[in-house]
Amino acid sequence: MGFVLTGKDYAEYIKKAYELIHENGEYVTELDLATGDGDHWSNINMGFEKLVEKADELGEMPISDELKEIGKIMMAVIGGSSGVLYGSAYLAAAKAVKGREALDSQGVCDMLEAMLEAIMSRGQAKEGFKTMIDSLAPAVNAYKKAVSDGKSEPEICEIVKRAAIDGADSTKNMEAVRGRATYQANKGLGHLDPGAVTMSYQIGTLMNCIKEKINI
Ligand SMILES: [Mg+2]
Repeated sequence: MGFVLTGKDYAEYIKKAYELIHENGEYVTELDLATGDGDHWSNINMGFEKLVEKADELGEMPISDELKEIGKIMMAVIGGSSGVLYGSAYLAAAKAVKGREALDSQGVCDMLEAMLEAIMSRGQAKEGFKTMIDSLAPAVNAYKKAVSDGKSEPEICEIVKRAAIDGADSTKNMEAVRGRATYQANKGLGHLDPGAVTMSYQIGTLMNCIKEKINI
């Protein structure tokens, strides 16, 4: 058992993540309007749309170069803080797997961990602040634990996906420390953080793509 995630696979993942983000536009915008200014979905959707346009080109690259290119595109296309955060995350991920043509399970874990560290440092935020970190951090922690517990790769994919989704769900009971929800009297309590939700879409889709590769 094992898998190798190539640049081409990552480009395929981008297309699938875009589909999921795209089809949940109304839902994510509704979440954002409850606590923020309602532009999160259109920003991130625009970023992924641009990535899909360039997917063929991106898919030809070694994965480390591809991650760097994705970071530059996200930084340029996605507006607001999300653009800077996603851009920084991808640039950090590219650095963490520098020179690699493709990623194995440990490589994917390293990539996600580098993204998490970049987002935390750039956003000066941590778990519990009601942000995308509340989906990504539990996913990274679960990934590391599952690897050290000797779980199989299909099991790891399920565990990481579940952690990302549960993490996003947990933002409902959090008071915001970062982002526009902090301007509200109740700090967004009772509402999901849209950034955590779209993060969980991405992690879940990536894990689905990897799981398909293992089964081949
Ligand atoms: Mg906004």
